[in-house]
Amino acid sequence: MTDDINKRIMPEREADNRIKDFEEVALGISTEQAVAEAKRCIQCKKPFCVKGCPVEIDIPAFILEIAKGNFDAAAKKLKEKNALPAICGRVCPQEDQCEKVCILGKKGTPIRIGYLERFAADWERTQKTGDQRPETRDRPPDAPKMAVVGSGPAGLTCASELARKGYAVSLFESLHLPGGVLSYGIPEFRLPKEIVRLEVEYIQSLGVDLQLDVLVGKTITIQQLFDEGYKSVFLGAGAGLPRFMRVPGENLKGVYSANEFLVRVNLMKGYKFPEYMTPVKIGKKVAVIGAGNVAMDAARCSLRLGADEVTIVYRRTEKEMPARIEEIERAKEEGIKFVLLNAPTEVFGDENGWVKEMECLKMELGEPDSSGRRRPVPIEGSEYKIQVDTIIVAIGQTPNPLIPHADPRIKTEKWGGVIVDDKGMSSIPGVFSGGDLVRGAATVISAMGDGKQAAIAMDAWVNSPK
Ligand code: FAD
Ligand code: SF4
Repeated sequence: MTDDINKRIMPEREADNRIKDFEEVALGISTEQAVAEAKRCIQCKKPFCVKGCPVEIDIPAFILEIAKGNFDAAAKKLKEKNALPAICGRVCPQEDQCEKVCILGKKGTPIRIGYLERFAADWERTQKTGDQRPETRDRPPDAPKMAVVGSGPAGLTCASELARKGYAVSLFESLHLPGGVLSYGIPEFRLPKEIVRLEVEYIQSLGVDLQLDVLVGKTITIQQLFDEGYKSVFLGAGAGLPRFMRVPGENLKGVYSANEFLVRVNLMKGYKFPEYMTPVKIGKKVAVIGAGNVAMDAARCSLRLGADEVTIVYRRTEKEMPARIEEIERAKEEGIKFVLLNAPTEVFGDENGWVKEMECLKMELGEPDSSGRRRPVPIEGSEYKIQVDTIIVAIGQTPNPLIPHADPRIKTEKWGGVIVDDKGMSSIPGVFSGGDLVRGAATVISAMGDGKQAAIAMDAWVNSPK
């Protein structure tokens, strides 16, 4: 990776200003910037960038359209492979995907593929030139039925691919809104919900029948789906179960899981209280435990909700932080403090059961563990206390066990991930899975890649002799 890969060239709002509200931070590049950046692309004959993209967007082709000024054609090219380009252009870790393998990155700055993706998708949306008409208009009324469970990036992608192949797709979502983490996790200031709404609407326009408030495993079982004539089922139920620290005092009032906190703030619009009746109690001194994207989002939301001091507490060093580098930089600019090589050991409350202090233990780095990152090793006797009145635990999520519990034929790993074969098929023939339900907490684009691969495999499975 070059030093330049994480350089932010996109205009964004000043930190002092943006922490006062939930409006989007990054503003998008200008037409001139987009064309100039697109012209830097050397149109490789064997483009590594395409292989670096899990949904295999024809990256040189869409960039060439931007270079020629054909922005609408660029957006169309993107949508051939990716139904969620405005979302991916905002939240994909391109620095670890397509941009990481861009040939220009070997000696200088790779093409900012993510910025260009966002530019083309935003152009289409704001100029309203996009072709939003259904692409599967000729689907016969007796098209075979396919069921997709969960409307996060994995389910949305699987559903759109199946609809494009001519299937009658039902997309079942347990919540009252589609989008999964895109709607309930990632905050408005990183991913405006109007963009999620419009990209989901586009997928519906392909012929996908979205059914909200259906909890598969309770409202309807997998077997009932087959009994109702669905030929194959995709499970994309995500990893919505929070991990906890398992330290004394974690159940005190004022300790949130990041999931609960972000759902209240984003999905239930707590940041618009009292317009939306979702009060979110936030103290003055907030500690967020963890250093992934979830932790950065929770910290930055806390600041915007009025906390005076927000501190990220992380047991490794900055180098090991899993969050996107640009989001770590933005968090720092906004005034978030970082206490590294520290792990909480106990939470203390006042006489009313509200958090007032947290004990931490200092760490040093030892040998690498199974994740390849150096293991944090406690420094004996280094305990000390910090004053806090709110703690948000963001140390990871695991798959929700509801579906495997409801149908024990589904085999899972010990940690809860659904076990699939190399085609994405689970231990039930015809039931496929992908995204965070299989991988554990991962990324939007890896979930989309799984959804796409599963759609190809489901099509092949349905058409194979049984
Ligand atoms: P999800 O997005 O979790 O969607 C699963 C859907 O299934 C949900 O809508 C859920 O309600 C529904 N569901 C669950 N059970 C059932 C059921 N029984 N019946 C019906 N529906 C059900 N990734 C990035 O690439 N970049 C980022 O910047 C980034 N930031 C993140 C910030 C936060 C706060 C979080 C939590 C995650 C972030 N991620 C990020 C990770 C990324 O969002 C996930 O990896 C991705 O959303 C996984 O997609 P999915 O479709 O597998 O699951
Ligand atoms: Fe363009 Fe880089 Fe892809 Fe080559 S690898 S086609 S230079 S974006």
